[in-house]
Formats: sequence, structure tokens, C-alpha cells
Amino acid sequence: MKTVSAVTDLRRERQTLSGTLGLVPTMGALHEGHLSLVRRAKAENDHVGVSIFVNPAQFNPNEDLSKYPHSLERDLQLLDNEGVHLVWTPTPDIVYPPGYQTYISVEEVARPLEGERRPGHFRGVATVVAKLFNAFTPHRAYFGQKDAQQVVVVKRMAADLNFPLEIVVCPTVREPDGLAMSSRNVYLNPQERQTAAVLYRALCAAKHAYDSGERRGDSLRAIMASAIAVEPLAQIDYVSAADPDTLAELQTVERGALLSLAVRIGNTRLIDNFLLTETPNSKLQTPNLRFGL
Ligand code: AMP
Repeated sequence: MKTVSAVTDLRRERQTLSGTLGLVPTMGALHEGHLSLVRRAKAENDHVGVSIFVNPAQFNPNEDLSKYPHSLERDLQLLDNEGVHLVWTPTPDIVYPPGYQTYISVEEVARPLEGERRPGHFRGVATVVAKLFNAFTPHRAYFGQKDAQQVVVVKRMAADLNFPLEIVVCPTVREPDGLAMSSRNVYLNPQERQTAAVLYRALCAAKHAYDSGERRGDSLRAIMASAIAVEPLAQIDYVSAADPDTLAELQTVERGALLSLAVRIGNTRLIDNFLLTETPNSKLQTPNLRFGL
């Protein structure tokens, strides 16, 4: 496995990789969710590239950039064990050198949900992902359903800017109690960690209602909200039942829905989602998740 920081080194090493390349962008502090993307990329491509970069442009001034978890040595060992070929670990100065002033703004699909609560977040995401696509020139790029709006934004950006690659969406990997794996879960104290499974329970309650025939958006949102309200440590940021492509809130679910929510547990903000498919009782997390284009 080659680990590089400078863009010139990345380009040189990239040129030595023949056949197809699968890219997995990450912010490090790797867990099984990240590794599931790496394994999928490995299964579908001749070579796998991974980026580890905590992207300052996607954090607001009041967010957790300075205390975001780092574990570079351990991350590199995990990636080596998975048979990854090339890892890019740039510093902020390499990605955004002095004088940098070019950003990518995806419009409508970046506005609601996370976009509304985290102004500028998707501008940072779209910009860094475009730079990663240019630097690695991958054939496929792997993203987790965990960050569903990110998938929709990245798919839109890749299509609009004619990046010649396939975006592959991988199912959310969960802890035994249903909590979606996240680098931010390390912030939770034991009591908060127990509470955190409420996101999954709220999504399951709404999915259960949907499978039983409930199609009113307001009811699905209310079911999630009341499941969270029973937990004194949990504070709702938003609950949503939206069109999986446009992310507009639905009055009535007619052709599937993206159920999503953001909840604060103490000082930690967690997100999760389920994709409801058109056919009732169908499995939520199919190998080829289709939403956002
Ligand atoms: P991050 O390091 O949080 O930026 O995540 C890097 C990639 O891993 C993103 O595409 C995430 O959606 C994905 N990811 C994060 N957590 C999970 C999870 N629990 N299951 C599947 N993919 C995940």
C-alpha cells in the first residue's frame, strides 16, 4: 500500500495502477462502515484508493472540526489489511493552498435537511469530492447511505459536471442495537450511547407504519418525533419524510420516501435514515440503493 500526501505524488502513483480504480473518500477514524465501502470497492475494481481528509470546508465555525477524532496510524493499518493500494492523506494546505478560491455549490437538493441546519456544509462536500475525483480519476466512487443527502448532492454534482464515473451507494452498517456506525459515536458517554439507539427505533416505528399502509407524510414524521420524545437526553433537530430524489417533504408517499432525522444526544449530533421503497415489506437496504438520480 502506498500512502502519499502531495498531489504530484498521488498523480504519479495513480498512473501506475492499471485497470479500474474504486475510490472511497473518508475523514478517517475508520470503522466497519468505512471498511464495508472498501470491501465493496475491492470486489468491484482492480485497485482501490482511499482518501483520509478531515475537510475544514464542510464544517461550520461552531462545529466539531478541532475535536474530530483522528487515528491515522490505526486507519492505515486497517486499510493495509484490506488490501488497499493507494491512500491519500493530504493536509488542508495541500487541498486548499494559499489563494484558493474555487467552490462548487449544488443548488436545490443541497438546501433542505442537513443543508438548512449546516449552512455551507454541502458546498464544502461538493468541492472536496470534485477535487478527489480529479485527483484520483476513479472509475467508481463509493459512498454510504448513512449520509443520504450527501449521496444525492454528490450524484447531482457528478452528473452536472460530467465526471465519467459511477457513484455506488452502500448500505448503512449498524451496531447490534441498530445505532448507525459513525466516527462521532466516540463522543457519547455510556448513558448517551444507550439513548442513541432511539434514532433507529424511530425509523423502525415509521417503517412499520408504512409497511402497514400509512402513507401520510405528517403521520410518518409524527411517529418518528414521538419515538424520540420519550428519551429525555434526545433533542430533535429534524424529522423528515421526503422524496428520495428531490428531498422535498412529502404530503403523501406515492413512490417511496427517504425517512431521515437528525437528533442531538447531549452535545453530539447524530443522523440516520431509511429508504422506503415503493413495494411494502420490501427490504430497506438492497444491494443497489436507488435514490437521487
Ligand atoms: P466519513 O468519514 O464520516 O466522511 O464517511 C466516509 C464514508 O463512509 C461516507 O460515504 C459515509 O457515508 C460512509 N459511512 C459512514 N458511516 C457509515 C456506516 N455506518 N455505514 C456505511 N457507510 C458509512
